[in-house]
Amino acid sequence: MKTSVSRRKFNKILGQGIAGTALISSMPLSCAMGGQKKDKRSLGIALVGLGAYSTYQLAPALQETTHCHLAGIVTGTPAKAKRWANEYQIPQKCIYDYESFDNIANNEAIDIVYVVLPNSMHAEFSIRAAQAGKHVICEKPMAISVQECDAIIEACEKAGVKLGIGYRLHSEPYTQEVKRFVREKTFGEVQFVSADAAYVSRGNPDQWRLNKALSGGGALLNMGVYSIQSAIYGTGENPNSVSAQEFSTRPEYFKDTDETIKAQFEFPGGAAGEIMTSHNTRANRLYASCENGWFELEPANSYGPLAGRSSSGKIQFKHESQQKLQMDDFTRHILEGTPNLAPGSMGKRDMIICEAIYSSIDQGGKKIALNLGDMGIVG
Ligand code: NAD
Repeated sequence: MKTSVSRRKFNKILGQGIAGTALISSMPLSCAMGGQKKDKRSLGIALVGLGAYSTYQLAPALQETTHCHLAGIVTGTPAKAKRWANEYQIPQKCIYDYESFDNIANNEAIDIVYVVLPNSMHAEFSIRAAQAGKHVICEKPMAISVQECDAIIEACEKAGVKLGIGYRLHSEPYTQEVKRFVREKTFGEVQFVSADAAYVSRGNPDQWRLNKALSGGGALLNMGVYSIQSAIYGTGENPNSVSAQEFSTRPEYFKDTDETIKAQFEFPGGAAGEIMTSHNTRANRLYASCENGWFELEPANSYGPLAGRSSSGKIQFKHESQQKLQMDDFTRHILEGTPNLAPGSMGKRDMIICEAIYSSIDQGGKKIALNLGDMGIVG
């Protein structure tokens, strides 16, 4: 069953006071996976939505994490619940459906709720998780409007829980190296950045990613947030303005959502930037031209291993699961107060930029001013 709580119930949730406060169970053994050896203070994560990303990336990564483990699941499909319970030894009391989800408040074995649902459901389940007193990881894009991002941030603040966005690349070494180049001005000031993130969508035209009510938008909200992120950490600045154009070559397939978008940014330090995102071509690259050289990642945003070069030579790091690194980093943020590498403000910033891009397209490519200050700049 693929249900969500009705819009009326969601609005009620948005209006409710937040009752819970975060409880960290230091040793949540009751829902821990059978026999898995974990750090003494391992936190329990419940995955909400057992689709492709949870199944093929997050659950396997949670077998490798040091500071957190798979403790619970939330699914509308009983057959999946059974399969996952068997595969990962998850006890019945740590399995919820979308209706019983709020009872997770009483489950001390679960510290973090990871929302891995279609984009339009992120806000509802992130807010319900916060109200249940659980820390929240919300997948990208954070939500489908800036207003929803604000509601998630407010709910987490009121509940006193931590909020992270599923931007796994901030924990990834090639990306961290690029951020270091920019921070330390290894090649001087960045003068131009170009970032592309795209893949070819085929198959079922009724999939949720092509349905605006569920996705909030097409290529831009799916892959475009990666190119926006790349342009920002590729310059170390938030853009001052954006202009954008949309291209459509398969309108019969992309009936409801954007197919290809290009956008140009101006950055306060004088750098220029451009991004391309699409559901109808392949691209996976970050390139920056600097005063005294250049750097490039290609691939720049897939699950890895990534690859990179600069005017000084090859960039090379050992590959590890990005999702493992990301979830361990977020857990350490909770347990040890290390920096939150992808906070809610970053997800909101990207949604402000996405809304400005759609607005520019609606106005024939008009330049839209952005007043982002330094919000969401991390690392
Ligand atoms: P998916 O389609 O494979 O899974 C979606 C899940 O949501 C399924 O289990 C489905 O049963 C459930 N669901 C509940 N209500 C639904 C409804 N009304 N319609 C459709 N499905 C419904 O999607 P996915 O690839 O797992 O993506 C889930 C989220 O994770 C998205 O927000 C996506 O952007 C994000 N994601 C992030 C990354 C990353 O690298 N950070 C990668 C892939 C996906």
